[in-house]
Amino acid sequence: MQMYVDLGPNSYPIYIENGLLDHALEKISEIYQGNKIMVMTDDNVNQYYGDRLVDQLSAKYTVGKIVIPHGEQSKSFDILPSLYNQLLDFKLTRSDLIIALGGGVIGDLCGFVAATYLRGVKFVQIPTSLLAQVDSSVGGKVAVDLEAGKNLVGAFYHPKMVLIDPLVLKTLPDLFIADGMGEVIKYGCIKDAELFDRLNSYHSFDDLYKDIEEIIYKCVDIKRIVVENDEKDFGDRLALNFGHTIAHTIEQYFHYETYTHGHAVAIGMVQICVLGEKLGLTPLGTSDKIREINKKYQLDNECGVLMSELVQAITLDKKNFDNHLSIILLKNIGECFVYKTDASIFNALERV
Ligand code: NAD
Repeated sequence: MQMYVDLGPNSYPIYIENGLLDHALEKISEIYQGNKIMVMTDDNVNQYYGDRLVDQLSAKYTVGKIVIPHGEQSKSFDILPSLYNQLLDFKLTRSDLIIALGGGVIGDLCGFVAATYLRGVKFVQIPTSLLAQVDSSVGGKVAVDLEAGKNLVGAFYHPKMVLIDPLVLKTLPDLFIADGMGEVIKYGCIKDAELFDRLNSYHSFDDLYKDIEEIIYKCVDIKRIVVENDEKDFGDRLALNFGHTIAHTIEQYFHYETYTHGHAVAIGMVQICVLGEKLGLTPLGTSDKIREINKKYQLDNECGVLMSELVQAITLDKKNFDNHLSIILLKNIGECFVYKTDASIFNALERV
């Protein structure tokens, strides 16, 4: 399966296919006729797929590899000089290519490196986590974290190609499968009731896996349309933030240790619907539908923290600097809208 993200000069193809990793050379050759490639990955992904990719590409290119410790700590501003220096040592020029092989951390970090090294070199995303396959590898947002918060330094920088091989999910730990499912469910909630019903029809992720190519395709297609309509995140793209205002504050409150992103999003989606129901803006019973589906995919519905403790963090979020807050509410499953408010609206929730 394939699709094309249509962004004028920043357009790029996305391929989704079981076993695609073993055809990376063929695909990369379509868009890159240069000489050098630097593959950037993390230590977990490297042990499964690093050499498989490097050996394959070495048949045609001079290939280097940078292996970064896994985890969000590596997505830091401070790591950048060491990465730039390794690219310089490899004599990577502006006409060469960087490949990001890994989850969202590697995609965001290496995408940022690609955007800034020598004022920008081409890069390709080969996302290996479910979250990266359905979300972070598409859309061109690349970033690193500062101590003050996540993604505070970044750019819009699109890859030249995205290669999605769902078979690599076989080695992804269950915790991160559930994490990605948080975002998959989100797409159903905001744009596609049919997808939501379909997700509900499976018994578990293992059951869903037989249709994984199609499910990923549907999610990426929704993101593609949203991104094409709002490349720089001024309007339509806000819909992708459904559940995210609460999620970000939960992640922060627990110092990014207890809840990974998709798990926090799952709680955020339920709780923002509870809020919508209380305000009479979301039909009663919507939050229960999401609770049910979250449970099926090993996701929590609440974290037990008093809302008053979270509200302060919401007002500090970079998206809410001027105290105006746009939240995404559901009109129904599959249909969302932007609601302009401020952080005090969350006082209607006692606990999330
Ligand atoms: P991650 O990159 O840390 O991957 C999760 C874990 O799974 C890591 O330990 C990784 O080593 C391991 N892993 C990845 N693929 C594997 C595989 N196939 N087999 C075995 N292990 C594997 O985290 P993530 O959840 O993929 O991404 C989270 C990051 O994505 C955050 O930094 C977040 O800010 C970012 N993000 C970005 C966007 C965007 O639009 N750019 C959107 C959402 C999230």
